[in-house]
Amino acid sequence: MHNEYRFLIDCGEGTQRQILQSGIGFKRLNRVLITHGHLDHILGLAGLLSTFMRWETIEKLEIYGGQWALDRVHDLIYGIVLRGAKPPMDLQLLQIQPGLIFAEGGFTVTAFPVWHRGPDCFGYLFEEKPRRPFIPEKADALNLPMGPWRRDLVDGKPVTLPDGRTINPDQVLGPQRPGTRLVHVGDVGRTAEIEEVCRNADALIIESTYLQEETDMAERFAHLTARQAAELAARGGVGKLILTHISRRYRERDVLAEAQAIFPETIVARDFATFQVRRGECTPVENPGSNG
Ligand SMILES: [Zn+2]
Ligand SMILES: [Zn+2]
Repeated sequence: MHNEYRFLIDCGEGTQRQILQSGIGFKRLNRVLITHGHLDHILGLAGLLSTFMRWETIEKLEIYGGQWALDRVHDLIYGIVLRGAKPPMDLQLLQIQPGLIFAEGGFTVTAFPVWHRGPDCFGYLFEEKPRRPFIPEKADALNLPMGPWRRDLVDGKPVTLPDGRTINPDQVLGPQRPGTRLVHVGDVGRTAEIEEVCRNADALIIESTYLQEETDMAERFAHLTARQAAELAARGGVGKLILTHISRRYRERDVLAEAQAIFPETIVARDFATFQVRRGECTPVENPGSNG
């Protein structure tokens, strides 16, 4: 079963070059989620679009974002890149509200509001459906034969065995387990509003533009320090903290040191990582950075 979906979250300058260099390609790259309308998060759409116009073909491109972000994306694409030409694919700008924006293939994407400069800033939660694990010991105790019955029971369907017995899913499945949760937050100036959504996330990808020594700058421009991001991860019991949007003025190891002192499970991904979200795993694919 091909059950693979790709999302690009934000599109900074040079993103299409990074995708080319990284070798992961443009295939099935049909969905771009925009966190907000600042230029360092959308300018790369121009390059992406012109790449598609010249020599890559995809049938459809959906760009999700808040109204402010999409207004700027619209101006950029139709006013500057296309200038009257037709989009090289079925291009859709999809304005979102907080809440569910995508549900397919056993997982959902939910948008939630974040506080930053400007209106309509969003973070995104990728969440697998909860599932009930198959308990082999229970199946053995029932003398459940090998065969298609097991799969049906996992799918929640009662089965009738060749010997005439009917087995219900409850007899062989364990209690429900939550699915994998991956939270992506773009630029954000404070963490109070997002604590709840981050709780127990398997991975939290979030900006960390400043170090603690520049807390005043972080406050002024509505960004986080590495320390604030790490405190959020620690409070929420997050699995892994992935820091992005690091200022070029800092050394990566200083950012890591500040965060890991509070939350050891921290890594730094330079801006605008690409993600593959599959059943059971959310894999960030790191790209080299661009400015933010
Ligand atoms: Zn911003
Ligand atoms: Zn930014």
